[in-house]
Parts: sequence; structure tokens; C-alpha cells
Amino acid sequence: MEYKSFIGGAWHETSDSTPNVNPSDTSDILGHAAVGGADDMARAIDAASGAAAQWAKSTPQQRFDVLDFIGSEILARKAELGELLSREEGKTLPEGIGEAARAGQIFKFFAGETLRQTGDILASVRPGIGVDVTRSPVGVVGLITPWNFPIAIPAWKIAPALAFGNAVVLKPAELVPGCAHALADIISRSGLPEGVFNLVFGRGSVVGPELIGSNKVNAISFTGSVGTGRAIAADCGKLLKKVQLEMGGKNPMVVLDDADLDIAVDVSVNGAYFSTGQRCTASSRLIVTEGIHDKFVAAVEERLNNLNVGHALRKETHIGPVVDEKQLQQDLDYVDIAAKDGGKVIGGQRLNRDTEGFFMAPALVTETTNDMRINREEVFGPVASVVRVKDYDEALAVANDTEFGLSSGVCTTSLKHASHFKANAEAGMVMVNLPTAGVDYHVPFGGTKGSSFGSREQGTYAAEFYTTVKTAYTLP
Ligand code: NAD
Repeated sequence: MEYKSFIGGAWHETSDSTPNVNPSDTSDILGHAAVGGADDMARAIDAASGAAAQWAKSTPQQRFDVLDFIGSEILARKAELGELLSREEGKTLPEGIGEAARAGQIFKFFAGETLRQTGDILASVRPGIGVDVTRSPVGVVGLITPWNFPIAIPAWKIAPALAFGNAVVLKPAELVPGCAHALADIISRSGLPEGVFNLVFGRGSVVGPELIGSNKVNAISFTGSVGTGRAIAADCGKLLKKVQLEMGGKNPMVVLDDADLDIAVDVSVNGAYFSTGQRCTASSRLIVTEGIHDKFVAAVEERLNNLNVGHALRKETHIGPVVDEKQLQQDLDYVDIAAKDGGKVIGGQRLNRDTEGFFMAPALVTETTNDMRINREEVFGPVASVVRVKDYDEALAVANDTEFGLSSGVCTTSLKHASHFKANAEAGMVMVNLPTAGVDYHVPFGGTKGSSFGSREQGTYAAEFYTTVKTAYTLP
């Protein structure tokens, strides 16, 4: 399979390409992706810029039809797309199919949003004048996406961008070209005018600056690591370009003495280790009060012993591989650092399976304190640490003692503690007796502090980023 860039309505060859390797079995090469250059990106931006005015004038019905077509096809093909996703990213097959379905649902939601327009007609404070407040498209939007949700994250940026009348240039992560290509293929048959959607493969450091620096690109929506996000925000700031960033997390899961132990273990294991811990919302810090600490650690350890790590496509697998060798090395390094800093490590070693892949036993690091590196820096793998605390007040303080603020959870049967936690957790999303990862698609997604910047994604709140508000005054 050749994954080509899609520019101005046509598939676009490049001389250079890079293999798409299955992390469960490195002998399985799914295809080769184009490695685009700055000139390819410039061409895609020109195409988007040329098509933007026409799409901005499209009717809600045209937009609905396009988005509904895309959503319907993704949903109809969720098993096949989910398998592709699992093969290239390493999520288990149920996780891959679930993510593909999510992408379809997102397109369906935003198909509906094209018809549910909002606006205000008001009386002026001055006599005889009418005021109306409407939303217009932003223009050309550049979308930069990470590898860990290779179909859902592109979907949750592309769908609102198109629904609100914008032209798009998508720059997906290098490790997952297959899902981006499959999405572009579906979009190419949706009836969308040529040039409104463009896909450019290539290295972030090469094609990214062209996208961010172009004066024809009106807004940038980025999801990825903190370092890249900060650099993009600085560049957009200099150009006064609208920007939205979703970045890392060091998400706490607080387990209180009054928690239901089974729920607490389920929620923590799911949040910390499913999808191989490669979720920005993963529960990487388990903050546990002393009355339940030992029982909780023993139960989590027992659960981890019963989880199968292996090939993402096999039925018996609970946890797939890490995405690549570099990420695996980073995960193993953090386990070493945690041990050197005084943590007690359970699991966390590289595993051999009957295929060559990037397999790692889930790691639980106990006896840690919140100032250790393992509790300050995002690992982005199947690694969680436990911090023992005295009571609820200390648990909340430790949960909030981080530069991040994406998702924060508590397991408790106390209404008082749950209510207080919801009000006082410094995070964009709060979970009570639920994993920190796992969200709905019709409500806002995003964080506080170092995790996010700019307006929220998803749900009706997506309009904030993908439109510009216009206030018009009329004296009839
Ligand atoms: P990354 O920052 O390395 O890459 C993200 C994207 O940015 C890729 O497409 C990459 O090619 C591109 N990029 C790299 N350098 C660039 C540059 N100079 N200019 C423009 N684009 C550039 O992140 P990743 O490793 O792909 O993803 C993992 C990270 O993403 C983790 O930190 C995770 O927490 C974060 N993430 C956050 C969310 C969220 O919603 N908060 C969701 C998923 C992942």
C-alpha cells in the first residue's frame, strides 16, 4: 500500500517514503507513506486557500450531506478500520474498533451541528438600531495530530472544521499514516469540493513550520506533546494566529478509604494501562489514602498478573505493544529512574513474544512521593505509580500538585468528598468512580494549566475555535 498525500483533490506522489511498521510484529509492513516536503505543504495550503471561499458559502445541507456520508462510511467499515488502526498503532482490536466507531460518531454529531446553527438578534441599547451576532468560518485551518488516537483525533478536528465552513490541511503523525490515508480516501468520495480537505504526510519539523508560518493559514489546532505545543504556540503568538493546543497529562486517580475496592481497582487498571497507557488522559498517579493502600496495591498487582500483553490482533490480548522502539525505551528508562529514586517496581520489564514487537509488562511503582520524576513528567506508557497519603485533604493537594490539568479522578462512596473533588480538582475533566480516560464525544474535551491552551474541543463548544463571531449593527 502506498499512502500518498491528498492535495487539491488529487493523490500526490513523493520521491521519498517511509515504512508503516506493525508494533506487534515488525516483520509486518503495512505500507509506505509519502515523506512530503515544505513545497508539498505550500501546495496544499494554496489548494485550501483557493477552495475556502466556496466552502464558506456552502449551505448547511451540503455540509450535512458530506459529514453524514463520511460518518456513515466509517461506521459501516469500523471493523476493517479498527483492524488497520490496531495493526499500525498497537491498540487491541476492540479498542481499535471502538476508536473507529468513535470517529464515525463524531462526524455524525457534527453533521447534526451543521443544521443546529445558533445566532442572536438583539435590540440595540441605542434607539432604532438592530444588532445581530453570527458565526463565520475562520478560513484555512491547519490540523496537527499525534499517533495515539490515529483516527479519532483527526476526526474530532476535521469534522467541526468542515461543519463550520473551513478548508483543512491535515498533518498527521508520522507513525500512523494508514488511518489518515483511509480517512482521506473516504473524504475524497464524500462530495466535498476539491481543495477543501488536504492531507500532507511528512516530518513535523519540516512540513509543520510551513503550515504554521503561512499567512494563508488562519488557525492551528494541535494535539501532541508539551514541547512541540509550546513551540507552536510561540510561533502562532508572533503571527497573532488563532491556536488551540491539547497536550500532555500526569493525571491523578485518588482512591479514598471509603472507596468500593473492586471499582477502584477496575477504574485504576483501566485508566492506567489500557491502550498501553498511551492516552493523554491515562491515570499515571494513583493517590491512595493509608487505610485502603495495602489492600489496593495487592489487588492491583493481582489484576496485573492476569493481564495478557501481546499481539494487538489476538483475542486473548488485554494490552497491546508500545507504539515503537523509541517510546518503549522511554518507558523502560522511566521505570529505572523511578527505581533509582526509591520506588518499588512491580513489572515494567521488556517482554518477548512469538513475534518481534515492542512489548512491555505493565509497571506499578509503589512507595513513591509526588516530588519524584516519575510523578512529575509524562511517561506515556503502561506505567503508573502509587503515592500514599494520610487523608482526603492531602490526596486533593497531591492530585493538584502538578503542572498538568487534563483529567482528574476520585474513587469514593462519599457524596461529600465527590462533590468537593469535582469543585476543587484543578483539571478540565473530573471523573467520579470512573477511569480518568474515556470520554463522550458530545461534550467539551480539554484541560487546564500545562495540558491545554485555547478553547475547548468537541461538542457544541468546538464552534468557539472553528468560527469567528461577527456583530453587525443595522439602522434600517
Ligand atoms: P508530538 O508532539 O511528537 O507530535 C504531534 C504532532 O506534531 C505530529 O504530527 C508531529 O509530526 C507534529 N510535529 C512535530 N514537530 C513539529 C513542528 N516543529 N511543527 C509542527 N508540527 C510538529 O506528539 P506525539 O508523540 O505524536 O503524541 C504524544 C503526545 O500527545 C503525548 O504527550 C500526549 O499526552 C499528547 N496527546 C494529547 C492529547 C490531548 O488531547 N491532550 C491527546 C492525545 C495525545
